[in-house]
Amino acid sequence: MNKESYKKKNILSYDPKELSEIVSGFGEKAFRARQVFGWVTKGIESFEEMTNVPAKLISSLDQVYYTGLPDIITEQRDKDGTIKCLYEFPDFTRVESVFMRYKYGNSICISSQAGCRMGCSFCASTLNGLERNLTAGEMFGEVLKMIKLTGEDIRHIVIMGMGEPFDNYDEVSKFLRIIHDKAGYGISYRNITVSTCGLIPAIKRFAKDFPQVNLAVSLHAPNNNTRRKLMPIASSYQYNELIDACKEYTKQTGRRITFEYALIHGVNDSTEDAEELAKHLKGWLAHVNLIPLNKVKEKKYEGSRSNAVVRFRDILEKNNVPVTVRRTLGSDIDAACGQLRRI
Ligand code: SAH
Repeated sequence: MNKESYKKKNILSYDPKELSEIVSGFGEKAFRARQVFGWVTKGIESFEEMTNVPAKLISSLDQVYYTGLPDIITEQRDKDGTIKCLYEFPDFTRVESVFMRYKYGNSICISSQAGCRMGCSFCASTLNGLERNLTAGEMFGEVLKMIKLTGEDIRHIVIMGMGEPFDNYDEVSKFLRIIHDKAGYGISYRNITVSTCGLIPAIKRFAKDFPQVNLAVSLHAPNNNTRRKLMPIASSYQYNELIDACKEYTKQTGRRITFEYALIHGVNDSTEDAEELAKHLKGWLAHVNLIPLNKVKEKKYEGSRSNAVVRFRDILEKNNVPVTVRRTLGSDIDAACGQLRRI
């Protein structure tokens, strides 16, 4: 990417309607906007690649916009097929994304912010706080650059990388709409998952705005006390209020919620913890995803022992709470949950 791009705007941040305004501003016909949208959402790295677009429009666009893909600073590959990229945007802001191979297809975990201000005590993304929000186009760029790198299709997106997506609600929503648009990339909403640490007002808004996008909520505790020790956000939104908001979400949308629960040795992994969690989550559309904590070197916490993981899972199952233990991908290259960082 030409570093002069920092003076330009990211073309991937515009939906077809906005693009048609841009294109008509340059004195071109509206159908040109559809062509441009089609090209840029395929991941071109120069406007010159748009072979059926007039040279005059290409040069007008090039003066104000750039094609939106970040540079790859480092690329690490795990033997399980996972690839982690450290990307850089034109203003030198850096974020990480992770490409994962599953039986059902390829998936990418993207960042929604550079850094994070939520301060969860076990997570690497929060070290050094929030640098800035990413734009819709930058999030799209993370996906398209990974497709370029791998030469493979990506049909599942999780917004579970660095950052709190609901702390950047407007740009995340815009990204969802643009990447879903049939005139471009056209990904199904059902193949996208957004993960939040539990910002209740945004959960309510999301139920209305995107009832088909999957929602994951990072719970990590069976009660308010334990949650407050791990996640500062728990001081703003009480545990029971969060559970109620989630129940309401499932009623409104008819969709289940996945609760992420990082099992931390001696902190939230006892039999009592499992019983208490089961009480909150049984009988409604809740599913638990247990993630044995991934080690972050600056943090004191350790992942639960494997027998504690099995015991925790069994108690939830016994209580008829659907549960899976997340297969950890990419931990050899620090690409697993909670290990993404800028520093
Ligand atoms: N801010 C959002 C999304 C990013 S984190 C959220 O909180 O949901 C993605 C998931 O990884 C979250 O569930 C997060 O709590 C979890 N996580 C963070 N640090 C972790 C670690 N060290 N080991 C395992 N999971 C971790």
